[in-house]
Amino acid sequence: MHVSFEFFPPKNAHMEATLWRSVFTLEQLRPRFVSVTYGADPLTRARTHSVIERIRELTRLTAAPHLTCAGETPESIRAALRRYWARGIRQLVAVRGDLHDLTLHPDLRYAEDLVKLARSVADFEIAVAAYPETHPEAPNAAFDIENLKRKLNSGAARAITQFFFDNDAFLRFRDRCARAGISSEIIPGILPITRLDKLRRFAKRCGTTIPNSLDAYFEGLDDDPDTFRILAVNYAIDQVRQLQREGVHAFHFYTLNRYDMTYAICHALGVRPQPVRATA
Ligand SMILES: Cc1cc2nc3c(=O)[nH]c(=O)nc-3n(C[C@H](O)[C@H](O)[C@H](O)COP(=O)(O)OP(=O)(O)OC[C@H]3O[C@@H](n4cnc5c(N)ncnc54)[C@H](O)[C@@H]3O)c2cc1C
Repeated sequence: MHVSFEFFPPKNAHMEATLWRSVFTLEQLRPRFVSVTYGADPLTRARTHSVIERIRELTRLTAAPHLTCAGETPESIRAALRRYWARGIRQLVAVRGDLHDLTLHPDLRYAEDLVKLARSVADFEIAVAAYPETHPEAPNAAFDIENLKRKLNSGAARAITQFFFDNDAFLRFRDRCARAGISSEIIPGILPITRLDKLRRFAKRCGTTIPNSLDAYFEGLDDDPDTFRILAVNYAIDQVRQLQREGVHAFHFYTLNRYDMTYAICHALGVRPQPVRATA
């Protein structure tokens, strides 16, 4: 069983402390890699680079920076990739990026372009994004799967999915990918739920369905965060166990920089801490 963890660059000292506590705690679970998202503004972007470099310096983790097409040029991407390669970074998550008010360079309009560019710079091991419930801008599901296939054929090694709660949607997607000739690994992205109101907004933007059963499961807990968290861990454990029974053996966790829920879910799945450093 393989796990990987996603973090985002912290905005202030408090969030920074939370991030590093999570990185060091989750490091003990020996994830296959940890990734750090890439934001829209230059300051957040600089923070991604520095978090990645500190992970390399302070831990034994394999660090994978996210890179986006949005707001970049082929030259700026080449420079970032060369710097990463020189510092020993070998893995990347390559996505188009959320556009906000960013522009797309004509040679860097889709994640596929970014994969090709990265592969032309060095032999990076690249993960790309996949959408079990179809990317919101795609004209249809078949088009979106062909897009995923192109990204993989351009040199990406694997795909990580958008978060989802409808396991049947993921399994149907996996079948459709197989029928389309995709044989690369598709890692489900698992989001431990922290707040329902936030989740609803985020899910709507991403095109992720919130099943009625999920609403019913958490109903009446708006003012009871402790019970909510316990049940949210339980919900994710059920989701992951069901996927394991369907032959899924790698999971990517959207940690939101908090270790506790992800750590508990991993524990239930049999992923246990192992010493990462020799003790004095
Ligand atoms: C695992 C994961 C990690 C992410 N990390 C980040 C991050 O760090 N920072 C961030 O800003 N966002 C991130 N995102 C969000 C992502 O950037 C958005 O979902 C974005 O809208 C699409 O990115 P993509 O790489 O899937 O784009 P693409 O694969 O380029 O696809 C984008 C859309 O264009 C369509 N398309 C592709 N090729 C063509 C074509 N030739 N003609 C017409 N349409 C086409 C696709 O079907 C799709 O609808 C992440 C998403 C996931 C699932």
